[in-house]
Amino acid sequence: MKNRGFTTNIIHSDRLGRPEHGSLHKPIHTSIAYGYEKVEDLAAVFQGTAKGYAYARQANPTVSALETKITAMEQGAGSLCFATGMAALAGMLTSLLHKGDHIVSSSFLFGNTNSLLNTLAGIGIDTTFVDATSVANVEAALRPETKLVLVETIANPVTQVADLARIGALCENRKIVYAIDNTLTSPYLFLPRAVKATFSVNSLSKYIGGHGNALGGCVTDTGLFDWTAFPNILDIYKTAGSDPHTWALLQMRKKGLRDFGGTMAPEAAHTLSVGSETLALRMDRSCGNAARLALFLETHPKVSAVNYPGLPSHPQHGLAKELFKRPGTLLSFVLGDGVDPFAFLNRLKLAVCSSNLGDNRTLIIPVAHTIFFEMGPARRAQMGIADGLIRMSVGIEDPEDLIEDFGQALA
Ligand SMILES: *Cc1c(COP(=O)(O)O)cnc(C)c1O
Repeated sequence: MKNRGFTTNIIHSDRLGRPEHGSLHKPIHTSIAYGYEKVEDLAAVFQGTAKGYAYARQANPTVSALETKITAMEQGAGSLCFATGMAALAGMLTSLLHKGDHIVSSSFLFGNTNSLLNTLAGIGIDTTFVDATSVANVEAALRPETKLVLVETIANPVTQVADLARIGALCENRKIVYAIDNTLTSPYLFLPRAVKATFSVNSLSKYIGGHGNALGGCVTDTGLFDWTAFPNILDIYKTAGSDPHTWALLQMRKKGLRDFGGTMAPEAAHTLSVGSETLALRMDRSCGNAARLALFLETHPKVSAVNYPGLPSHPQHGLAKELFKRPGTLLSFVLGDGVDPFAFLNRLKLAVCSSNLGDNRTLIIPVAHTIFFEMGPARRAQMGIADGLIRMSVGIEDPEDLIEDFGQALA
């Protein structure tokens, strides 16, 4: 499968897994429990010596089919789905880190991930936040007890691009787990594996599902990390003869998914799987629209600043060009003096005021008043978030209609 194209692989993934009755989609399996003729077979599934399903909180065939699909997209070794992107991040961190371990994270983070890391500090797993657009800042924050580095590809809402390849080389050298939240790029625009990441985390609720109609998250192990050198894997998961590349995901399935219970529903897995078939088509269209809107806004007299990695004025424009197939669909901007942001937003007729991103519809939000409100002005200033900053996730509408809508709202 690996030498075929991105969309070909997704479209044919279920069929090649030979689903029941030649069904072209993996069916939605709703059974919670699985029955076995012989008790020995059930025991073998529990002990990991035979493949199979026991109880749907930790594995379900419809969810497994989606995991296979995402592993192929990421060119990884294996994947584990969760109910949401946050459950995936929390499951990854809590199953692999212990009290006293230390995280170095990009300071430019999804707001709820920032909040999650603060929660972990309360139970003894500390995070140092750094400006990850330069590897030197990450390196300076490393401690002997640093076990994991976490960054996002393109940060929301200011669109900073992390120094992904150089951080990868640093983590490889120091044998530190390197987790990349790939949500804003998706595996179509960027493969974390290419910069030596240990894990790629995707919120499937965003671009991969793409329609704003199902929640999901996924952690993919790229297969590059040597888990035999990682002290936090429990002996029971290093079962004799099993491939060390499977250890971390197995521990995550047991500790992060089974015990915390943030399980993806089979209906959601089906919806996300169907959505993922058009990921490349939607991304190409949305990225093209975003580039046009970014240019339109940057040259508009009533707009004072635009953040979009595709603009030559962006501080990491060169980095984004080297790393990503396209510079994404997210942009943010500040209106000029005298233009009231709320009045402007209320004049928009197509772009919808909404907190989501990665939908087919163009969604727009004033961030300091909403998604980044709770963290307060000091932390917002640290993240480069101005009070008037407006974030936009550009959809697949016809570009002329979007330009017309923004033109009339700014007039
Ligand atoms: C939305 C998002 C998440 C969380 O995903 P949910 O599925 O909403 O829980 C994590 N990281 C990034 C970058 C996101 O945009």
